[in-house]
Amino acid sequence: MTAALHRSSAARSGPGGGARLHPVVALAMIAAGGGAVLLLWLQDTVYVSGLGDWLTNAGRITGLLAGYVIVVLLALMARIPAVERGVGADRLARWHAMGGRYTVSLAVAHTLLIIWGYAVTAHTNVVHESTSLVLTYPDVLMGTVAVFLLLGVGIASARAARRRLSYETWHFIHLYTYLAIALAFSHQFSTGADFVSNTRARWLWSALYLAVAALLVWYRLITPIRAAFRHRLHVVDIRRENADVVTVFIGGQHLDELRTEPGQFFRWRFLTRELWWAANPYSLSAAPRPTMLRITVKMTGSHSAALLSLKPGTPVFAEGPYGAFTAARRSRRKVLLLAGGVGITPLRALLETLPAAPGELTMIYRANTDDDLVLRAELDWIARDRGAMVHYLLGPPRAGSKDHLSAQRLGKLVPDLRDRDVFLCGPEPMMAAAQTGLRAAGVPRRHIHQESFTF
Ligand SMILES: Cc1cc2nc3c(=O)[nH]c(=O)nc-3n(C[C@H](O)[C@H](O)[C@H](O)COP(=O)(O)OP(=O)(O)OC[C@H]3O[C@@H](n4cnc5c(N)ncnc54)[C@H](O)[C@@H]3O)c2cc1C
Repeated sequence: MTAALHRSSAARSGPGGGARLHPVVALAMIAAGGGAVLLLWLQDTVYVSGLGDWLTNAGRITGLLAGYVIVVLLALMARIPAVERGVGADRLARWHAMGGRYTVSLAVAHTLLIIWGYAVTAHTNVVHESTSLVLTYPDVLMGTVAVFLLLGVGIASARAARRRLSYETWHFIHLYTYLAIALAFSHQFSTGADFVSNTRARWLWSALYLAVAALLVWYRLITPIRAAFRHRLHVVDIRRENADVVTVFIGGQHLDELRTEPGQFFRWRFLTRELWWAANPYSLSAAPRPTMLRITVKMTGSHSAALLSLKPGTPVFAEGPYGAFTAARRSRRKVLLLAGGVGITPLRALLETLPAAPGELTMIYRANTDDDLVLRAELDWIARDRGAMVHYLLGPPRAGSKDHLSAQRLGKLVPDLRDRDVFLCGPEPMMAAAQTGLRAAGVPRRHIHQESFTF
């Protein structure tokens, strides 16, 4: 089905937005920190000789890297605005998950290598060496508990286990990482060869940990509380879109100061008895206004379903804005907005605001049935107003070239596909199918920008 549209209107661009840390720069900074950690090891190492020494030094390196990577992981999750905007929350979450696997592996390797190395050097066996290390040094005992905690968090986060756990349970288990970091900290200084006699290294290491702790407290605690007082966010109205989807209108003051860009999301905490403890991410489903924000939510679980019973006046805490799925990613005049299901929300806001002349903006909205389309009347209205085109593609996925998102079908609907930036948001299988279709149609990877609703 196609809603065709003519007539132009001046497009509004999103507000300024603020500094962004490019992902490559972020990775370069992380790598430089890793290099500095290796230098710290090197400066304390005159020479390495014999199996015991090699093992112990490998243990030292893995231990230092584990201590470094874990603090980087916390920094990635500190919600630093320039990092969230530049790197993007979904990419940050992927890095965080990957870094988590490295940390657990490094911490386990550190433990095993140190024990083995000491045992070889002392001509004893590993069981005896482990017992004596744990019983002699209380800090090492705490470090050992930390490794077991990290292992537990790692196992709970593995894909198979993660699927069986509710988000809340997984999140709660994840918080043990903080305890692990606290437990492991002291053994680094009391027994770590690179710190025991190096005051400057101890200061720098402590400064790194303190700086990240300060960032966490500032951005995850103080900033949302200050924003709550400044902006006085509260529920204004609820609108049911269909059986599964609800729109929440959130009023407030001075919201222009947030410099929110269409395509971004907030983590929303609704202060009711059931919802106050959870902060779930939802994208804005309309351009932000100085006194009103709006989200549109599919009721998939306990949090989203509870939104339906929100009462006007309910206070709201919002962390954000976050996300890099904005006009800033665009590098071409022509744009295709490709949505699946409730993934329409950020794209609806972009359709309204991306600067474009008539004919430059096309939207494809994919859903299984007509009932699954949300905000359709608004989309048609905006498209008509802006001289954009909206195609609705309905029906279940099909095999091969017959699929709605195959290169052939996409190419027929949007003949100049290769000349466009594509903004893509929808369920994971839909996004995978769209990626395949777009790439086969010749759209370069760098012109495909996507927002994932799963962290
Ligand atoms: C950047 C981003 C933007 C999003 N925008 C929208 C939107 O505009 N509209 C919409 O309907 N959905 C959106 N989502 C998805 C939405 O956040 C989840 O569907 C919702 O949090 C589910 O919570 P639940 O308790 O109802 O369901 P559950 O069944 O308890 O959770 C389902 C899944 O949602 C995810 N989830 C739950 N709670 C959180 C949380 N606090 N933080 C991160 N992930 C969580 C987990 O992957 C979980 O397995 C967005 C997600 C992300 C990451």
